[in-house]
Amino acid sequence: MTIRPYRQIIRRKSRQIHVGSLAVGGDAPISVQSMTNTLTSDARATIDQIRGLEEAGVDVVRVSCPDEGSTAALAEIVRAAKAPIIADIHFHYKRAIEAAKAGAACLRINPGNIGSPERVREVVQAAKDHGCSMRIGVNAGSLDKHLLEKYGEPCPEALVESALEHARILEDNDFFEFKISVKASDVFLAVAAYQGLAEACDYPLHLGITEAGGLRTGTVKSAIGIGALLWAGIGDTIRVSLSAEPVEEVKAGFEILKALDIRHRGVRIVSCPTCARQAYPVIQTVEILEKRLAHITTPLSLSIIGCVVNGPGEARETDIGLTGGGQGNHMIYLSGIADHKIDDARLIDHIVELVEKRAAEIEASAQNLAKAS
Ligand code: SF4
Repeated sequence: MTIRPYRQIIRRKSRQIHVGSLAVGGDAPISVQSMTNTLTSDARATIDQIRGLEEAGVDVVRVSCPDEGSTAALAEIVRAAKAPIIADIHFHYKRAIEAAKAGAACLRINPGNIGSPERVREVVQAAKDHGCSMRIGVNAGSLDKHLLEKYGEPCPEALVESALEHARILEDNDFFEFKISVKASDVFLAVAAYQGLAEACDYPLHLGITEAGGLRTGTVKSAIGIGALLWAGIGDTIRVSLSAEPVEEVKAGFEILKALDIRHRGVRIVSCPTCARQAYPVIQTVEILEKRLAHITTPLSLSIIGCVVNGPGEARETDIGLTGGGQGNHMIYLSGIADHKIDDARLIDHIVELVEKRAAEIEASAQNLAKAS
């Protein structure tokens, strides 16, 4: 049997655009997005939520702009945010122009929904004048009437045709700085639509399974849909849509990227499901460690394994490893090698110290390398 290289993801070649300072597409890292759910007109609350998303590592944040009060607050939000801000607009071309003037890095707007060609021209001109990119966002739940009539129901062909129709409007206005999404809550439909769109154009693609559900259901559905596409090399930026706190979307997004070895951030914990052989409470230990290590952004791996059946093997593949041992004496592995023992009482504090120390060493050596080059 011949086994081909099985970790390889060959990424689709997309053109690169910019969302503020963030490159999307081409060889840019796949970015993670989320969306605020505060009233955008309440700048203070929105900025607070953006802070939380930034702490979780978000690359770009979308805010809804349904009314003038929202676009009026946008300038303050854009000034306060470190992440580029995307203004989410539906139908109202004036909101789009206001958002561009307020400093939005990108407008999420479908040009076919704006109205007259003159209005489209005005929005495109505002985007050009203020360095805004755009996202065309086609959604199976709000497909254009003529496409629903043509195809009878939302289907991949209809989503792709809709996306290309909107794209053509921007192209006819000599505007190419945009990305596209073709979302559906049905995983099969979304994946097939993205596959079709990926073949039909070279615009960067924003991936998402829309209205995916709550924290658990939505994360699983998104991991399957977004994960399948990323695995096939399709996708340049992702949003996991959850009926949950927005920060959970960012965490789930990074977990999908981590699982596919595409992008790493923070501590990747490898842990066993536990059984009667566990020599310490693995589940509680992992729960506590996840919280206490949430502030670490440096990518590193940690194995938390209940006993010697799988502990030494997993520890060999991780930066720091813990294997449960008899009589409350557990083995700590550093870089895969058994190093010292630790007792129950000091277990968690000790691992937190080890991880923090290793993260600081990795950061210092990266800085030294950067200085030397
Ligand atoms: Fe059980 Fe040990 Fe396997 Fe964990 S590693 S599930 S404790 S046998």
